[in-house]
Amino acid sequence: MCGIVGYVGPHPALGFLLEGLHRLEYRGYDSAGVALLDGGRIDVRRKTGRVSQVEELCRLDPPVGTTGIGHTRWATHGVPSDINAHPHTGGDGEVVLVHNGVIENYTSLRSQLISQGYTFHSATDTEVVAHLVAAQLKREIKLGGKASDPQTCLRAVETAVSQLKGTFGLAVLFRDAPGLLIAARLGSPLVIGVGKDEFFLASDASPLVGHTERVVYLKDHEIAVITAKDFEIVHRETGSQTPDVRILEQTSQDTELGEFEHYMLKEIFEQPQTVENALRGRLDEEEATARFGGLNLDPQMLRGIDRIILTACGTSWHAGLVGEYLIEEFARIPVEVEYASELRYRNPPLSDRTMIFAITQSGETADTLAAMRECKRKGHPTLAICNVVGSSIAREADGGIYLHAGPEIGVASTKAFTAQVTVLTLLALFLGRMRHLSYPAGKRIIGHLQAMPDNLRQALKCNEAVKKLAEKYYQAETFLYLGRLYNFPVALEGALKLKEISYIHAEGYPAAEMKHGPIALVDEETPSVFVVPKCNIYPKVISNMEEIKARRGPIIAIACDGDDKVAELADDVIYVPDVDEYLQPLVTAIPLQLLAYHVAKLRGCNVDRPRNLAKSVTVE
Ligand code: GLU
Repeated sequence: MCGIVGYVGPHPALGFLLEGLHRLEYRGYDSAGVALLDGGRIDVRRKTGRVSQVEELCRLDPPVGTTGIGHTRWATHGVPSDINAHPHTGGDGEVVLVHNGVIENYTSLRSQLISQGYTFHSATDTEVVAHLVAAQLKREIKLGGKASDPQTCLRAVETAVSQLKGTFGLAVLFRDAPGLLIAARLGSPLVIGVGKDEFFLASDASPLVGHTERVVYLKDHEIAVITAKDFEIVHRETGSQTPDVRILEQTSQDTELGEFEHYMLKEIFEQPQTVENALRGRLDEEEATARFGGLNLDPQMLRGIDRIILTACGTSWHAGLVGEYLIEEFARIPVEVEYASELRYRNPPLSDRTMIFAITQSGETADTLAAMRECKRKGHPTLAICNVVGSSIAREADGGIYLHAGPEIGVASTKAFTAQVTVLTLLALFLGRMRHLSYPAGKRIIGHLQAMPDNLRQALKCNEAVKKLAEKYYQAETFLYLGRLYNFPVALEGALKLKEISYIHAEGYPAAEMKHGPIALVDEETPSVFVVPKCNIYPKVISNMEEIKARRGPIIAIACDGDDKVAELADDVIYVPDVDEYLQPLVTAIPLQLLAYHVAKLRGCNVDRPRNLAKSVTVE
């Protein structure tokens, strides 16, 4: 959450900062701001709302400077307001900084700083960091350091951050140190773009695209001292580091809208390609199994696994549930799906044959990262299923599988879900073939997977029908989403999509379980969306539909092509291709994503930037 940008070089910084903030806006949009350093003066412009509002603020009288920082906020401490917007100023204006993360001990630090005479203006936790760096700078100067010396500023940041508890990605400017930018990280991502006589800083690589291909991912406990000439990375315990410069593969096309009105719609329509990309090079037809380049575990170790924990948050957690069903069915290994935010503080007994998979789109989700670290610390093999190459989770895991879904910009995740389910199917096939899954069964699964991109193309043809459906139901105040077995996680995911972007109350439930509570919500105004493709217990789901019908609840069904029986019972039916049961989530998720999209649009909601949410949840 929250986007940070920074620039040091020969060119005016404002253009890069604003463009970068636009590209990072999906990470937070409560407020935005920039600060530019020019000749012993730092000009701060910040405003509640979108980046475009700060742009407007800078239009008539643009702040000048070739060194600058910017921020787009997802508030954790203090309401979204101009005064709480970053950048924040420390001391008498000698330090200005932006921050991503949460300072857990900010109350005690704040009291200490107030007693030392510092005045606070905002309600944020961030302002304590600004004053703390200013206080440490003062101390360094008293000890003989020069305000303009990068090493003095580095020491001030070092001693300040060593007093912080919590997480931070920081970018700091010093009024009296021209052409200097200092960045520090613990738990919140930062990447440095290495240009020719210029350097860029950002929370993720998207602002760097088109500016430089050479990047360095800052690690926890590292501080970067950046000037237009050079940069140095210092680890707080081990000292100066040799930077690991990597080449960025992202292109600007990946982040452009093209013919689509919203990123979410674009990403929904990319899903056939997403599945193709997730499968590419991973199907071993000869051995009837899957292969992965980066699991980094030897076969003997993998054969010895007797339990798997899939840990994730939000949509990735739903993909994990599908994974549980797949792995247990194909590989007969017990699987548990744990919310990362719970797992990190729980202490479940784990044997030395337990394997952990963290599932995440961004690779930066704070809870997932913490849960993964906790399991790693206990010595368990910890792997990641992740989209963003070079992200914290990708780097810290012992191995893993990339989704190759391309950047997902829409805050409501769609194509990452499909890619995760595809990768989990491959994983189930792989683990299954090491155990009880026969060669012909493996072959059959490969054939079904190869047909999936076309099935998804077919499924997307429901778009017009779903749009009409949305027109009929968009004013409803509550929706129920019901499914069984492989389609139960899809029901959860459908409800989550609707909640996230249209702010309608929605509940996902196993279809039979609704008798134990949610059925009380059913009335003539409350639609129930049944995910009911042909499956082993299809007649049972039909009975569940009868139960809703008997209470006059409107029924929307997501059913297989040619299913006339469902049409007799449901008020509306959306058809998807008839695929094997274990692959149904890939096709049945599509109409539910589209339904959420069209309903949100009809209700005038901001589809790509839903209220209170942000992509990449880097705070706890
Ligand atoms: N905790 C800080 C605030 O609320 C930073 C939040 C963020 O990461 O955007 O202002």
